Amino acid sequence: MMPRELPVLIVGAGPVGLSLALALTRSGVQVCVFEAEEDLSPEMRASTIHAPTLEMFEEWGVVEQVLAAGAITDRVQYWERSTRTRIAEYSFSLLADDTPYPFRLQCPQNIVTRVLRAELEQLPGCSLYFGHRAKGLKDLGDKVQLEVSSADRDISFTGSYLVGCDGSRSIVRKSLEIPLSGKTYEDRFLLVGTNIDFSEAFPGMGPVAYIYDPEEWAILLQLPTLTRTVFRVKPEEDEELITAEDSLKRRLWRLLGSEVDFRIEMSRIYRVHQRVAERFRQGRVVLAGDAAHLNNPAGGMGLNSGIHDAYLLAQTLLRIFAGEPESLLDQYSEDRRKLALGLIQSVSDRNYNDLIIADWEGRQKRNDKMRAASLDDETARQYLLDATLLRQRPAPFTHSPVSNTA
Ligand SMILES: Cc1cc2nc3c(=O)[nH]c(=O)nc-3n(C[C@H](O)[C@H](O)[C@H](O)COP(=O)(O)OP(=O)(O)OC[C@H]3O[C@@H](n4cnc5c(N)ncnc54)[C@H](O)[C@@H]3O)c2cc1C
Repeated sequence: MMPRELPVLIVGAGPVGLSLALALTRSGVQVCVFEAEEDLSPEMRASTIHAPTLEMFEEWGVVEQVLAAGAITDRVQYWERSTRTRIAEYSFSLLADDTPYPFRLQCPQNIVTRVLRAELEQLPGCSLYFGHRAKGLKDLGDKVQLEVSSADRDISFTGSYLVGCDGSRSIVRKSLEIPLSGKTYEDRFLLVGTNIDFSEAFPGMGPVAYIYDPEEWAILLQLPTLTRTVFRVKPEEDEELITAEDSLKRRLWRLLGSEVDFRIEMSRIYRVHQRVAERFRQGRVVLAGDAAHLNNPAGGMGLNSGIHDAYLLAQTLLRIFAGEPESLLDQYSEDRRKLALGLIQSVSDRNYNDLIIADWEGRQKRNDKMRAASLDDETARQYLLDATLLRQRPAPFTHSPVSNTA
């Protein structure tokens, strides 16, 4: 077989791997997706879907299903916890001329992956291998070989290209010995899912809110079936103690200012990193999503930028299959790395640093800036174009479907 007749091998059936598989399959490229687990991850994880991602979902024929499963959020707010005052509110309607989706959708990641998988299973050309863990790879120059193990066999697959969409601990990235440089925050994040209606408990609170406080900041997100609250966990805090039910309740009561009755649906503590791989391409192997870059979840940029990687990479591979030079992959690597290192790291780090500013002068400065920007429509629109990654959206596909047998 000629290399171009071989499938694209994708490691990882998370949101990024499935997005890439869908974009390629819809354009007539054969793909094989290998997922270590027996099924899709049931973990909720990210839940913010920004406008450009919805535009991509529209191109891939899944936007209606995702919209139906999520909650449309028309605004984002910033609060000062100590005084319980709202500093600023930005309305996504300011983006009405920039996107058909001038809002932010709150839809859990584990629902998005189910929608992507269901769509993929209806299309010819995609083989999904669950329970198949990638172990190692060999770049043979004109093709690439992946070693995979399942419950009953070890097997090797050959592909034209291999894409590591296998998350933060990527075996693909490690096999290539590509460093993941950056930092890990000292604080961990605590995610608590409850049935609290914050608009009742905290008058004026909108469906998405960042609540500033140097000691105990919080992020509130109203999802279709639960409210998600993210808290700071200091280095000295003990995970078992703080995830005990009474401790979680006390933390939420402190935030609400009263002992309202509610149910805890889930809780989870996780470490947060700001890291970027030193390159996203090596020969016939490419990285996308968390395998390539990690950032803190304030602002919802991890999942979205990963899906945008998949979008651009699919486009790049289609152009290569249509005869354009392979050096386009270097362009992909450079463009996405530059964005990850630049805007995504800086916006997510700034979002996090804004949450914790301690000195009074710094807090006033931050609040004045946020307020002033929110009160001027054009400044607010410019802020939202970056916050939603609309300004950085890769250009839409302009190619007619091609086949990798061309
Ligand atoms: C607890 C938590 C909360 C988060 N909250 C937010 C949030 O609020 N907002 C936000 O923007 N981001 C958040 N994130 C980050 C977001 O979830 C990721 O950016 C997103 O999941 C990246 O998708 P991915 O497909 O690149 O990787 P993943 O979702 O990690 O998917 C990787 C897939 O690869 C599979 N895999 C791994 N190794 C192998 C192997 N060797 N062989 C085969 N398969 C393999 C895994 O099983 C997994 O299914 C959160 C992350 C975590 C962990």
